[in-house]
Amino acid sequence: MAENLVPIDGEGQKKRVSYFYDSDIGGFHYGEGHCMKPTRIRMCHSLVMNYGLYKKMEIFRAKPASQREMTQFHSPDYIDFIARINPSNLKYHKQEQYKYNLGNLVEDCPVFDGLFKYCSISAGGSLEGAARLSRDKCDIALNWAGGLHHAKKGEASGFCYVNDIVLGILELLRHHSRVLYIDIDVHHGDGVEEAFYTTDRVMTISFHKYGEYFPGSGDVMDVGVKRGRYYSLNVPLRSNVSDENYKSIFEPVIQNAMESYNPGAIVLQCGADSLAGDRLGCLNLSMRGHANCVQFVKKFNKPLLILGGGGYTMRNVSRAWAFETGMAVGVELGADIPPVNEYYEYFGPEYKLDVKSSTTAEDMNTAAYLARIKRLLLENLRRLGGPPSVQMSDIPSLPMIDDPMDDPYEDEDLMDPNDRRPVGILDSRRQVDGDYSDSDDEGEGGRRNHASYYDQESSEGSFSESG
Ligand SMILES: [Zn+2]
Repeated sequence: MAENLVPIDGEGQKKRVSYFYDSDIGGFHYGEGHCMKPTRIRMCHSLVMNYGLYKKMEIFRAKPASQREMTQFHSPDYIDFIARINPSNLKYHKQEQYKYNLGNLVEDCPVFDGLFKYCSISAGGSLEGAARLSRDKCDIALNWAGGLHHAKKGEASGFCYVNDIVLGILELLRHHSRVLYIDIDVHHGDGVEEAFYTTDRVMTISFHKYGEYFPGSGDVMDVGVKRGRYYSLNVPLRSNVSDENYKSIFEPVIQNAMESYNPGAIVLQCGADSLAGDRLGCLNLSMRGHANCVQFVKKFNKPLLILGGGGYTMRNVSRAWAFETGMAVGVELGADIPPVNEYYEYFGPEYKLDVKSSTTAEDMNTAAYLARIKRLLLENLRRLGGPPSVQMSDIPSLPMIDDPMDDPYEDEDLMDPNDRRPVGILDSRRQVDGDYSDSDDEGEGGRRNHASYYDQESSEGSFSESG
């Protein structure tokens, strides 16, 4: 298949790429008729293998994340429930089901067989990817089973239960002062934004459809609070954005964010529901338009964690993510789907890799609208006045690490030093007590206020389609 891989021109030094895949992932089912189909990860993997990309990267099966690791962000009672619940005992837990926003099989976040294992695999890949990046074992880590950006600290949302992204970012923050999170899913990356809304150690930038659309948040005026003010950016788009218009706002915003923020690492959520023809999406990106975001971000040569996310037209999701895997290793995949491929018939009648934009969809993002949004975003970035002069002793505590935790690995001598540790994160960096004026903001009060702000947002409209 080597002729099917063409080196991309102008690439500097080749990247060391770690790719995470667990073959069990395709065996989980959200339920009949549910839009989210984990099989898409297996379809993507099949393309990756049959194009021969395995020769150009290291492939890992991550250790599934433990409950302990998940509670570095999530509340222990919620994770404990996810670990215990299954379709047969669900009927005895109506109250908790409601509390944690878990539904029966016809709802957004159903309880299905193997739910906890599914979450563990998704989160394990992102955690291990982050850990390998932090230890300088690779330049780019990929986990297409990750990117589940809607999951909240104590509840499921929009097909997402455990927020692997927040966990991965927390792992990166053990080694980097600042992490930039970019989200190109058609839906607002609300769970990640909320987790880091009050801190300047993570800048989140989400590009998404906004207005009568799940999850309802992500207005351009929502910029973060307190120490996190101007470190949350939102790019609300209207329907059918074209490749050209998307690029015209993505590139300058990311360029300016890189200059203003100078992060130590980047996490890119590549939700593929922003592609044209997605079953739930309403944007009009081609495969190349989508992948341009990966190529653009890659060029900054920062440790890069690339994750999946939404994406509900399986044949297109697998095409885009396979193409983007190629991009990570510096090759362009050939136009023809390799015929040795267990999913070959899905790609008929043309059996081509490309996902094209619709030629009839009208882009509702006018030049004036995009110019206004871009101006507001660039103004906000200018207000930062350059990267925060974060000293290690100056780092605010993050909400999810406020609770003192036992260190499960206190017997360090018994541990393989290469094993990833749960993020007892930042504790080692809390060197000086003097400058913790912010920690009150990060405690109960601040988080409660922020949660109520979200409640207002999401009650403004009803959104039947999520993800
Ligand atoms: Zn989505």
